Amino acid sequence: GTRLTLFDLPLDVVTLPQALDLLGEWMFRAPRAPHTVVTLNPEFIVQSRTQPEFVAAMQSADLVTADGVGTVWAARQLCGQEVPRAPGYDLVRGLMERHGPELRVFFLGAKPGVAERAAQNAARDFGVQVAGVHHGYFDPSEDGRVADLVGASGAHLVLTAMGAGRQETFNQYWRQVLGAPVLIGCGGVIDVLAG
Ligand code: UDP
Repeated sequence: GTRLTLFDLPLDVVTLPQALDLLGEWMFRAPRAPHTVVTLNPEFIVQSRTQPEFVAAMQSADLVTADGVGTVWAARQLCGQEVPRAPGYDLVRGLMERHGPELRVFFLGAKPGVAERAAQNAARDFGVQVAGVHHGYFDPSEDGRVADLVGASGAHLVLTAMGAGRQETFNQYWRQVLGAPVLIGCGGVIDVLAG
């Protein structure tokens, strides 16, 4: 599909159903190489100005969707293009609704205890398999250990919710160790799923 450039960041012109189709192919059609997904919001654009590694992580993402109306507006003003919204929560919920019991999900992020609740709710509401859970307040020196844990879990889908920048750079740097075919940086989504 079409990829726009907003400042120096990529933005894919993709509808929510098209994004869900693509992620489904990445998860369930061989070969299952890791793919990173960024849901771009204006806060990322501002914050990444002083964080070159955040810019690099977004530039090498396999899919960049518009998280909300702010990004849609920016694309209209700066690129003259209408970009559909495909927010992180809608992507995650859509994947769980579509794939249910065949989907193994790792919940990585939020405060201790929250990912457990999110996983329980997702298993109850959508029938997904819980590949594993881990909170998002570990020291960067623990990154490799946590990535190994995820890599050993056999997840199709990793929800990385550790705050803007941290979640995208973590997914990008550790993608081969994380191993799952879809890695989504998804901000507050674990909190929302936890209710
Ligand atoms: N979070 C985390 N580790 C951190 C910072 C944040 O797991 O070091 C979680 C936080 O608990 C929340 C999500 O990341 O579930 C988004 O946090 P916040 O809205 O503060 O981040 P932002 O995206 O606004 O930077």
